Amino acid sequence: MATLEIRDLHVSVTTDDGPQEILRGVNLTVSSGETHAIMGPNGSGKSTLAYSLAGHPKYHVTSGTVTLDGEDVLAMSVDARARAGLFLAMQYPVEIPGVSTSNFLRTAATAVRGEAPPIRKWVKEVKTAMTDLEIDPAFAERNVNEGFSGGEKKRQEILQMSLLRPKIAVLDETDSGLDVDALRIVSEGVNRYKAASLESGEGVGVLLITHYTRILRYIKPDHVHVFVGGRIVESGGPALADELETSGYVRFAGAGAGAP
Ligand code: ADP
Ligand code: MG
Ligand code: MG
Repeated sequence: MATLEIRDLHVSVTTDDGPQEILRGVNLTVSSGETHAIMGPNGSGKSTLAYSLAGHPKYHVTSGTVTLDGEDVLAMSVDARARAGLFLAMQYPVEIPGVSTSNFLRTAATAVRGEAPPIRKWVKEVKTAMTDLEIDPAFAERNVNEGFSGGEKKRQEILQMSLLRPKIAVLDETDSGLDVDALRIVSEGVNRYKAASLESGEGVGVLLITHYTRILRYIKPDHVHVFVGGRIVESGGPALADELETSGYVRFAGAGAGAP
């Protein structure tokens, strides 16, 4: 059983006007088999939370703790976090010119699994995963995300997740910019990995960051958290998402503003 524990996390970024506190005391526990949705308005710090968990150097943790099964995540390098079982699907996936998708995936899988997957098994695995996500096999030889559409990039993120098999997956607005078909394909990809991870173990813990409720029609959260002003201001069950659907974030406006 894997548990990601975030305790009173404060994070600053350095802006032109000096350091600015973005996360103001985030508390959250995500365990194997659970799906948590974090919902909040633009600019509330959702991506900052995702980047901080992944270890992006621009985001400075000023206080608080993050542990995975008791291990200090904040003390780990970015790749150690991946090896420990953390995965981040980025809101804006980066293009990597000069690196083919197939090379990238194999290198990443080798690093995370600790050994190179046997080649014939690997080829089959990648092919199946690409077919599942309706990705053209020709994409394997294209450079990572280079010239990919928004929807294609999001599918690549889910492809990576299904091959890297994380214990805890943080999906940052994997739904944004997708049309209905792409949203369905990406959501089915997440659900397929959730099911596969349950079959082979305790199930992935998912932290689904989103601005809109529509992805929650496909990926059912067990817990919903409202994120405003750099922290969670309310938590509940799936019904909380329905409330947000009808009344938006107005009720929570300013809720995070008075934070120290
Ligand atoms: P969300 O993902 O909820 O839209 P973000 O985490 O992207 O929010 O941003 C939260 C706030 O932090 C915004 O005001 C944004 O401008 C600021 N911010 C985030 N990252 C940086 C950065 N690298 N440099 C400067 N400001 C940043
Ligand atoms: Mg945003
Ligand atoms: Mg964001």
